Amino acid sequence: ATSPLELPTLTVSDPVRRKKILERLSPLILTPGQQQKIHDIFLDEMRLGLAAKPEKESSLLMANTFIPELPDGTENGEYLALDLGGTHFRVIYAHMKNGKFDEEIVDYYHVPSEKRLGPGEELFDFLAECIANFIQKRQLGGRNFQLGFTFSFPMIQKSLDVGILVSWTKSFNCPGVVGEDAVRMLNDAIKRQGGLDITVTAILNDTTGTLVMGAYLDKRCAMGMILGTGCNGCYIEKVERIEKWLGKHKESEVIIDIEWGSFGDNGVLDFIRTQWDDAVDNQSLLVHSYTFEKYFAGKYLGDLFREVLLTLAKEGLFCSGGIDILNTHGAITATNVSNIESDSFKGVTDETKAVFDNLNLIYDDDDLHIALYVAGILSYRGVLLVSLLSGILLERMKHDHCTIAIDGSLFQHHPRFRPLMEKFISDTAPGRSFDLRLAHDGSGKGAALTASIAERLKKRSSR
Ligand code: BGC
Ligand code: MG
Repeated sequence: ATSPLELPTLTVSDPVRRKKILERLSPLILTPGQQQKIHDIFLDEMRLGLAAKPEKESSLLMANTFIPELPDGTENGEYLALDLGGTHFRVIYAHMKNGKFDEEIVDYYHVPSEKRLGPGEELFDFLAECIANFIQKRQLGGRNFQLGFTFSFPMIQKSLDVGILVSWTKSFNCPGVVGEDAVRMLNDAIKRQGGLDITVTAILNDTTGTLVMGAYLDKRCAMGMILGTGCNGCYIEKVERIEKWLGKHKESEVIIDIEWGSFGDNGVLDFIRTQWDDAVDNQSLLVHSYTFEKYFAGKYLGDLFREVLLTLAKEGLFCSGGIDILNTHGAITATNVSNIESDSFKGVTDETKAVFDNLNLIYDDDDLHIALYVAGILSYRGVLLVSLLSGILLERMKHDHCTIAIDGSLFQHHPRFRPLMEKFISDTAPGRSFDLRLAHDGSGKGAALTASIAERLKKRSSR
């Protein structure tokens, strides 16, 4: 058994084959020099993204979330929340009493691909139908609700309740929404649906919801992160350091949605790009976008793994038969990679065999070990990348202690992510005190909390 903290090693009986594979896959191992370069480039991209007159465009949106404060324990009342971004859409009812969740109801609705890829209006009509179904099923009719809407895509916000979609990501691509206000589209759909008395008071990103939920769990939370289908982070920034808004905000702090999934879309990360990253990008729904996210996020990790194995197979270095299946996009998932990784740490090959058998590959022991190695180095690269960024943010915020709230399947289920993140973040931000805290369903519950914050802000400004 090996440790998740160690760089994976390859055990193959034939030394020549072993050497060939190691050489072939070496571009997937980030050298200290490359790591330093990524570090410096991320800092520079953040600077450009916050600048009033950047000399060139940053690949980081550094978006204003218009959330200047966190839950303060005065949250009271009933709220609705929506969470859209993955293949499951969530509708949430939350009853807050003196700052605590007193009751919560969460229902999941599957979003079929024709809704994820069809006309935008139909997607929003579907959301409104789900809300109506929820209200009826949960017997919540006949009252007015304020609603927080988690919309896990890049947005330019004009206020807490206006979010203009910049681009779709992951598995959504509905025409007619980019450039539009998702709140307006949701409100219109709610009207078309009829019979619903709902006011959308806040729109937010899932990382933001996770941070807000993290702050509910632990006051020292100042970062939110999603390590799931997609990947992104947000943090609390001092408004005086946001050059592009100087004079426009009276608050002293605000949550910034970095949108680091698109880090490198302007080419700044091309020096670590491999042929397998190209292959995954070319097969993705939205090509030439979300460079950083495609390097390891859950939607892409399985295909990345498959592409590497396919190359090795074509070059006679992996599996003696059945390799055609490795041409099939989606044949291997991130869950499979997580399972294969857990074999590594247990010193067994059971899960790996199950994946191979399911694919009908013809394999021997060496092939199993090659798969363990490939899963290991791809995951290791991903953890390294996301940890570098996290460490940089800790150094920037300089809090005495920072709790990082995280949600998503990679963080929850992939056996390497959490332990190795702890190590790499410490390496990037030596001496900084932090902890990683799972904020399960943070994006949805955080939306209910944010609706409550929106109400507080509104009351105060109308006083
Ligand atoms: C989106 C982000 C989101 C992340 C995690 C990315 O594809 O652009 O807004 O936070 O996925 O869901
Ligand atoms: Mg989500």
